[in-house]
Amino acid sequence: MAEPQEQSKSALKKAEKQAKMAAAKAEKAAKTATLPVVGGAAKKGGDSKEIIGITVSKETDFPQWYQELVIKAELVEYYSEISGFYILRPAAMHIWNEIRAWFQERIQDMGVDETSFPMFLSAKSLEKEKEHVEGFAPELAWVTKAAHLTEKLAEEEVLQILELYAGVYEQLLAVPVVRGRKTENEKFAGGYWTSTCEAYIPTNGRGIQGATSHALGQNFSKMFDITVEDPEKKGDKIHVWQNSWGLSTRVIGVMVMLHGDDKGLVLPPRVSKIQAILIPVGITAKMSPEDKDAHMKRVDEIRASLKLAKVRVDVDSREGYTPGFKFADWEMKGVPLRLEFGPKDAANSVVSYARRDTGAKGTIPIDELATQVPALLQTIQQDLYNKADEAYKSHRLQLTEWEKVVPALDSRNVVLIPFCEEAPCEERIKEMTKSENGGEVGPDGRQLPSMGMKSLCIPFKQPEGLVQGETKCLNPECGKLAKSWTMFGRSY
Ligand SMILES: [Zn+2]
Repeated sequence: MAEPQEQSKSALKKAEKQAKMAAAKAEKAAKTATLPVVGGAAKKGGDSKEIIGITVSKETDFPQWYQELVIKAELVEYYSEISGFYILRPAAMHIWNEIRAWFQERIQDMGVDETSFPMFLSAKSLEKEKEHVEGFAPELAWVTKAAHLTEKLAEEEVLQILELYAGVYEQLLAVPVVRGRKTENEKFAGGYWTSTCEAYIPTNGRGIQGATSHALGQNFSKMFDITVEDPEKKGDKIHVWQNSWGLSTRVIGVMVMLHGDDKGLVLPPRVSKIQAILIPVGITAKMSPEDKDAHMKRVDEIRASLKLAKVRVDVDSREGYTPGFKFADWEMKGVPLRLEFGPKDAANSVVSYARRDTGAKGTIPIDELATQVPALLQTIQQDLYNKADEAYKSHRLQLTEWEKVVPALDSRNVVLIPFCEEAPCEERIKEMTKSENGGEVGPDGRQLPSMGMKSLCIPFKQPEGLVQGETKCLNPECGKLAKSWTMFGRSY
């Protein structure tokens, strides 16, 4: 599989600028230690000024929240020596590797041979992907092209790959997506058609393109004369049907934006490097060295039994840090499950737990850890997905009145409207839906969104209520017949 390399100059320049801005912002945030902390905690003892929390809330300043989070949760680090570059730290690298392994296993099952064709396309497709998720640009990406004998085979693959993308989002990252086809306006230029999966960020009501899988048709194979021998007719050549698809670290950014909260990152257990953090508590200065050793020995036994049950567990036995500090630290890093073990727990033969996603607390008998912890992790994974799915569903409004479109967007929704699918109409819709209050600050101190809406996709699963040959495009200036329910929204 092709590793990332080819970046178009403009994409690289833009990414560089974004990373620079992010680094400057983060540096500024780190310096202003007097800012109020909404999540996390100040370090107790030692240097009391050291802040590990985020200085703004997700709700009031989403972009700043995100910039601080990716650094404080130790997902990325910026180089100050080399401008514009950042590294993915182990926590982020782990997520990316989990995704790669999952994806690679499945494309091998599909019998996809990795084939090397001219790489011009990867640069182009990266250029097309102009909207980087801030903090994850320049992106690590695979861009792969596959060649097929027939249109049908190529089309099947496009959809299979799209389903794998959707799987990465839904099964691994707990991010629900809507699968569909891009309109002519939004499809990959020069391609045949583009399939996509689209996610939604409730905090600002914006749609975000998850991943695309393109059917290129024969345009490029004809241009570069890529042919194979016709198996039906010896001696004849066929221009192959090509597809292009890729996956990038953008997926991590989408997940961070969706699940994170004011305390920091919230990671789905399936991709988290550490799934459970075990923290010894209640160890006081009064405790005899023998008792302390005995307690720590039991902590080790608990860790061993969880490892045996295939739980990715770690013990935080750092000295000189209060349990409160450690709790906040691991909450910032998004570890799905916190386990506490103190003398009281030991007396009752239990381990206390706290869920990162809901804050729910409870105890688990020590001899049931091997079954209950994996089950609880699975529940957390499912609950994260369900919560996001509920938010997406309730903010995807099916509209039949044009007047309701802008108010719906202003209330952080995406909309499904009857649409003629024509490019000029889509351009006009973008103009017509720019908010009049654009740029002003709302009563809650938030900048009102002002951008017009664009089409996100034509969902494969079409709702009912559209009569072909009868239902009109919702744009009141258009007057043409609607071809589909198309999902529109303000988007990244
Ligand atoms: Zn129209």
